[in-house]
Amino acid sequence: MIAKNPASLTPPPHLLDYDRECAEFSWEKARALLDGLPQGRGLNIAHEAVDRHAAGPKADRVALRWIGKAGARRNLTYRELHEATNRFANALKAMDVERGERVFVLMGRLPELYVAVLGALKAGCVASPLFSAFGPEPIALRLEIGDGRVLVTTPGLFNRKVAAIRDQLPGLRHVILVGEEQAKGDGLHDWAEVVETADNDFVIAPTDPEDMALLHFTSGTTGRPKGAIHVHEAIVAHHVTGRYALDLHDDDVFWCTADPGWVTGTSYGILAPLTNGVTSIVLEAEFDAAMWLDILEQERVSIWYTAPTAIRMMMRQGTELARGRDLSALRFMASVGEPLNPEAVIWGQQAFGIPFHDNWWQTETGGIMISNFAALDIKPGSMGRPMPGIEAAIVRRLEDGDVSMIEEAMVDGELALRKGWPSMMRGYLHEEERYRKCFAGDWYLTGDLVRRDSDDYFWFVGRADDVIKSAGHLIGPFEVESALMEHPAVAEAAVIGKPDPTIGEMVKAFVSLRPGHLPDEAMRRELLGHARKCLGAAVAPKEIDFRENLPKTRSGKIMRRLLRARELGLPEGDLSTLESDER
Ligand code: AMP
Repeated sequence: MIAKNPASLTPPPHLLDYDRECAEFSWEKARALLDGLPQGRGLNIAHEAVDRHAAGPKADRVALRWIGKAGARRNLTYRELHEATNRFANALKAMDVERGERVFVLMGRLPELYVAVLGALKAGCVASPLFSAFGPEPIALRLEIGDGRVLVTTPGLFNRKVAAIRDQLPGLRHVILVGEEQAKGDGLHDWAEVVETADNDFVIAPTDPEDMALLHFTSGTTGRPKGAIHVHEAIVAHHVTGRYALDLHDDDVFWCTADPGWVTGTSYGILAPLTNGVTSIVLEAEFDAAMWLDILEQERVSIWYTAPTAIRMMMRQGTELARGRDLSALRFMASVGEPLNPEAVIWGQQAFGIPFHDNWWQTETGGIMISNFAALDIKPGSMGRPMPGIEAAIVRRLEDGDVSMIEEAMVDGELALRKGWPSMMRGYLHEEERYRKCFAGDWYLTGDLVRRDSDDYFWFVGRADDVIKSAGHLIGPFEVESALMEHPAVAEAAVIGKPDPTIGEMVKAFVSLRPGHLPDEAMRRELLGHARKCLGAAVAPKEIDFRENLPKTRSGKIMRRLLRARELGLPEGDLSTLESDER
């Protein structure tokens, strides 16, 4: 255990007395920490994140400190961000984009990404950031499911990934290109022309707290990706979790390393730091241990929110990594997205003098639900305790769709959360049935298996389904299998997560070929290349094995679990539904 002495912490953590805060907390009080739109016109995320600071003493404070790949830098103060987002909202209006329509953003971590997300919210549109490393297929599918009306991207990404799928997307009326001059017409616009020249003033449309604001895609074991709907009221949770779980204080320089194409990069890379009025670092470049250390040191980062894969990659450099560096500004480190090994928590303590604080949440919950807090002792390997305002339980699903509670300590079950917090998803877009299935009465069922110890600390055990967490990215096996099946040589495909010491799980595929195709090295390379082209490197399998047949249940479902057990040399479990043993 890593014991904490809260009295020695400066500034004093926002959440100092956990039990008292839990007893006294209410979401109404949390709501009162925000402003609401002037003249009682509702609640809008962009007002809370940007405009209210731009109208007050923080107007000239740097909101986003952008550090480009080639060393370029750009600071955006709250006032500048206010004006830039106004311009984007005006540009949408000029294009007749209506409230509620979906504005997708597909680009690396450029300042325009942040402006587009917040500006879309001002215009009453729904913002949906996509991961720029996705290949054309995941992009097309998400734009189609989400009824994408506008896409903001770069000319390079457009040419490589979108141009060829544009015909499949008749609803996509406008593509705004950020970057060098581009051919126009056919719904293509140049950011410099349509956004930079727009008016600096914009009055945010009246917004109901329950209006749809963000659409984040996530994957299940089967079927298409799901678009989780979040509403403007979610900002109440972003704000208060930023205070309690990340301990954001007025003067902090905060760095969330996640990409906004995943929910952490939006909730905590854009919204929570801005609504708390701090300065946020935006690094365009990808991971590099030495460069990250430079950023922590040179930018005087005080709060750092990162992910286990990155931490494990840094751990390879030993505890000397930070030696000789002035990291005196750094006072709190947190991690999310995958299980954080106890060794990583302790390594944080050894290398940086402070431990990593693991926390847990998911796309559907919209914000941090379970966390290690600054003032509480850490049990390395545990994801911590529920946020004030969050009631977490461990349940067992019953045949009739109901659940029974597991009250005993250290017994595994599914993590369930009592519904009713502001950033809870309000639905999966166009998928009422899938949404309904996530609930048993008042309880939202998370799909994660956990246990709780006698001190009310929660411990992650595993997923209840077959989704894969690779380098912190949630990958649906079905999407990968479908892409492999599109190759003419493939008869069947099954995809599993194979444990990997650095990236958590690696995507591995098992393929059976159609007659006339040879399972040789050339075919393996061909299929790996095909999958990378369709899906993008972050999602495509890293390994492919050939099988004559894949094991199936009597009802014809491929048994991924059995393939995984065999791959790892684990017990094969209950094989009563196996059609035949087709090793
Ligand atoms: P996503 O919706 O992509 O954010 O993925 C959410 C899933 O990531 C959760 O349901 C967990 O399976 C996993 N996850 C997130 N945070 C943690 C954590 N601290 N420890 C273990 N697993 C985590």
